[in-house]
Amino acid sequence: TTALVWLRRDLRLGDNPALAAALARGERVIPVYLHAPDEAAPWQPGAASRWWLHQSLCALSEHLQRLGSRLIIRQGESLATLRALIAETDASQVHWNRCYEPALIARDSRIKQALRADGIDCASHNAALLCEPWTLKTGSGEPYRVFTPYWRRLGPQLAERTETAHRSAPAPAVALDAPPAAPPETLPPVPNAIDGLAVEALALQPSIPWDQGLREAWQPGEAGAWQALERFLIDAICSYHESRDWPAEPGTSRLSPHLHFGEIGPRQILARIREAHLGSGSGPSSGSDSGSSSDPDAVFADQAIAEPYLRELGWREFSHQLLYHFPHTPSEPLNPRFADFPWRSGDTEPPLKAWQRGRTGIPIVDAGMRELWHTGWMHNRARMIVASLLTKNLRLPWQEGARWFWDTLVDADLANNTQGWQWSAGCGADAAPYFRIFNPVRQGERFDTQGRYVRRWCPELAKLPDRLIHQPWQAPASLLAQCGIRLGCEYPAPIIDLKASRAEALAAYDRVSASA
Ligand code: FAD
Repeated sequence: TTALVWLRRDLRLGDNPALAAALARGERVIPVYLHAPDEAAPWQPGAASRWWLHQSLCALSEHLQRLGSRLIIRQGESLATLRALIAETDASQVHWNRCYEPALIARDSRIKQALRADGIDCASHNAALLCEPWTLKTGSGEPYRVFTPYWRRLGPQLAERTETAHRSAPAPAVALDAPPAAPPETLPPVPNAIDGLAVEALALQPSIPWDQGLREAWQPGEAGAWQALERFLIDAICSYHESRDWPAEPGTSRLSPHLHFGEIGPRQILARIREAHLGSGSGPSSGSDSGSSSDPDAVFADQAIAEPYLRELGWREFSHQLLYHFPHTPSEPLNPRFADFPWRSGDTEPPLKAWQRGRTGIPIVDAGMRELWHTGWMHNRARMIVASLLTKNLRLPWQEGARWFWDTLVDADLANNTQGWQWSAGCGADAAPYFRIFNPVRQGERFDTQGRYVRRWCPELAKLPDRLIHQPWQAPASLLAQCGIRLGCEYPAPIIDLKASRAEALAAYDRVSASA
């Protein structure tokens, strides 16, 4: 029998359930990638994501060749392309790993139905999540809208499931009932007669070469993902609970684009963390019933090192379950009260452009936006600060920010981006209350105390002393002149008065609350 493995957002060979199922059931296994970006409309991959996809497909293609196989790349409507491939290869099975974006869920269901009607054995699998988004519900059977109770349910299961990974206990929520599989050592060859496109034919690379910063910052692909994880385990996981908030430090894992493209899966990360830092058998559920405790802190008492990191993976799961249950949220607020929020009126283009280009005159904001433009990634603390400035001080719709991130982030992810923006704007699940408005100067002083992040991305401010680097407009003219800065020239004067705009944002919020 011949099985097709339809690779999509699971660009890896280790712990790939669709590939494993095809290998277990088919004698001939044909890995295919189908390029049909419009099927994800209106969320077709942005420019930075396309860059990453190109590199990742090249890495996957080489890896498959080393193992004796070949990636068949085709372009065009997915169902028609799959049917053509099935006819050419005489395949009787198609396997894929699930995507969770609303448009792709609809497409995949349609394809599964159509192929099954053709008599093809079609199966989808979970490679991306620890917990399928429909699994955990509140006591009243509703999806979770608040992270803490969600994590109180999921957290203990992670501890328990990592501990019992080698046993055969039932795994109702967390897909860790078997240890993640290593990549196969060889793969069956793909017959020469089956042809495909070269990755270059997909034209994913930018036509003007703006990608040098991305090339310097990243190594897309499965090997790059594992290198990032190993570096994080050695250098950063022990201090993650603190250093994760300092944007100048390499204190986080930088695994987000690798996770988004499925070059590594969360099950693999969990298993590796446990192996590296906890040692087998020392976990909380060995010989005690703490694995069923409802208090994640108690469950993770002896794995305090890993807990803050696992919690972030928990946010990723939470975002996916939100998107699954509330598919309208990429464009509309989860909290309907915000549907008529009085966003800024008049000419919104100049402030939006200044924000996008990192020229707001607020140093920590500009540093974040320039890091994004240059590397395709922005530190989480900076993401929260720039999003607060856009939606609250500038009072521009969060959807504008989400769209810009979508095009510029290498980790642009519909679930995480939607949740991050709605949280920041105060209209989503678990929202930071709208009236909690970040003061970017205080944020800078607290999390970039020595101004290293600002100096790196706004070098025109580098000579300012630490105490003024986050508010150059407070520097006396003589000092600015000494440092070679003319506000409004080398570096912009602030485009917004932070205090007045904060008051206006609060007044706008009051209007929404009063009309509720
Ligand atoms: P680490 O701190 O090492 O965390 C590990 C992993 O956990 C991340 O790789 C990511 O997969 C997940 N994670 C961490 N924080 C969050 C979070 N708050 N919500 C959901 N998952 C999280 N993340 C994306 O992956 N794609 C996006 O498009 C995205 N857009 C965002 C937009 C805004 C406005 C905000 C405030 C946050 C956004 N995030 C997004 C979440 C977060 O900023 C990034 O996941 C994180 O900065 C990635 O860096 P890291 O891999 O070093 O994270």
